[in-house]
Amino acid sequence: MNVNDSEKINHLLKEGGLSRTENQEDANLIIVNSCAVREKAQEKIFSFIGRLRKDQKVVVSGCVAQSEKDNILKRNGNVDFVMGTHQFYQINEIINDYILKSKKGTKTTFRQTWSETVPDAMARNNKYTGFISIMEGCNNFCTYCIVPFTRGREKYRPFKNVMDEVDYLTNKGFREIVLLGQNVNSWKDSDNNISFPILLEKIAENDKVKWIRFITSYPGYYESELIDVMKRNRNIARHVHFPAQSGSTRILRKMGRNYSRQKYMEIISKFKSEIPDISFSSDFIVGFPGETDSDFEYTLSLVRKVKYDSIFSFVYSPRKFTKAASVADTIPISVKKGRLKALQELQKEIQLSYHESLIGRNVEVMVTGKNPRKIGELLGRTESYKIVNFVGEHKPGIFINVKIEHFGPYSLRGTTVI
Ligand code: SAH
Ligand code: SF4
Repeated sequence: MNVNDSEKINHLLKEGGLSRTENQEDANLIIVNSCAVREKAQEKIFSFIGRLRKDQKVVVSGCVAQSEKDNILKRNGNVDFVMGTHQFYQINEIINDYILKSKKGTKTTFRQTWSETVPDAMARNNKYTGFISIMEGCNNFCTYCIVPFTRGREKYRPFKNVMDEVDYLTNKGFREIVLLGQNVNSWKDSDNNISFPILLEKIAENDKVKWIRFITSYPGYYESELIDVMKRNRNIARHVHFPAQSGSTRILRKMGRNYSRQKYMEIISKFKSEIPDISFSSDFIVGFPGETDSDFEYTLSLVRKVKYDSIFSFVYSPRKFTKAASVADTIPISVKKGRLKALQELQKEIQLSYHESLIGRNVEVMVTGKNPRKIGELLGRTESYKIVNFVGEHKPGIFINVKIEHFGPYSLRGTTVI
């Protein structure tokens, strides 16, 4: 989401006549697009800002800007403007009215309507994967999460606008489309009576798209419809990011997630039985207030059962405005870190044994570029987002087959198959 917001800002700045420097050192203006989801991410922003040169103008945008507002200007003398999550479309106005006049300011009001900004192909991070934002905000209020406070309530992008961006990107040669939203399955176009699974199916009709992905989908919405649409359309990637957060129903309730462990497992089993080549990834939080050893065991056993292709795991971080932040956080940091390590070790073993089973198999890979760590090698990604290293001279965005010969916990290596 943040990458896509940065693409939008980049696009608008280009339209306003500015150009992006190769090196941060050469920039007159620096836009710091921030993430507030965990304290650590927020701290990084402030230490980054602190290291910027005094003669560089600094705009802080995104979620930290939204949650900290004027405090940023008060605490950080070298920040010039604080631009909330709903203001990026005003960037050129802000530059003219504030930055060029050496005036400081803050704009953080939430807008009720969708602001249509389609970054052109040149403003995108690459020329093969196109991010398309379909909704903004979140209505779920999971008790640990700051997002509803930094991004506001859900707003859905009209069906036609989404389809136009899909056409725009595929006509420019983009082959992978990633639909973005905090909660993509709640997307709808009420005027036209279109739900998320129907949107997916309509996009899948465009045969220029090779892999359609969507992040993030909340477990327990439209699973039967999603399964049917995926079964009918092979260009929807057989990989779903389904954040479980915890394997303990008791903790899920405290987190305000509206599924139980059992319901989550039922959804996963349904997908697996209907779409045998499906794979999953997930997010987990360890050390949520009140999490016992036995709750954590449930998380480990869920991970063992589902056998995710990959997971993102985090130590719980208390966040401003959230319900959980008012509950005493009594689990010692050493216990939290121990749980994180145990979870990551378990996942590493699962990945190693899965990767070993891929030896000798041909996998389809989308080339993503050169391997920065090995001259002459390329990198690619599989349908389930695994990184594959191989020797070749293919252009990014090309799909090829690679025979897997070596593996590690986090990547694979092989030779291209002609
Ligand atoms: N909308 C997505 C999540 C967006 S935030 C969803 O519901 O799945 C991305 C991830 O950050 C979350 O899935 C969660 O695992 C993690 N996260 C969010 N708030 C957190 C917090 N306070 N502490 C630790 N991790 C957190
Ligand atoms: Fe945060 Fe929950 Fe919304 Fe995801 S669904 S963004 S975790 S509140």
